[in-house]
Amino acid sequence: MIIIKKTQACRSCKYLTTEKKCPNCGSSNLSPSWKGVIVVLDIESQLAKTSNINKPGKYALYVG
Ligand SMILES: [Zn+2]
Repeated sequence: MIIIKKTQACRSCKYLTTEKKCPNCGSSNLSPSWKGVIVVLDIESQLAKTSNINKPGKYALYVG
């Protein structure tokens, strides 16, 4: 697993980003405190459906 230090997790949708704003939902409510990574490649997968993810990308499992 690659951990990028500057990566922050969006508190609204848990999307992981190195930007100052979430590119997924546009929220600037980001947290540097998060655990675990979900990589979603297929939004039709069971994982994406149970996690309410509707866009491929990297998401945090837990956002502090
Ligand atoms: Zn977001």
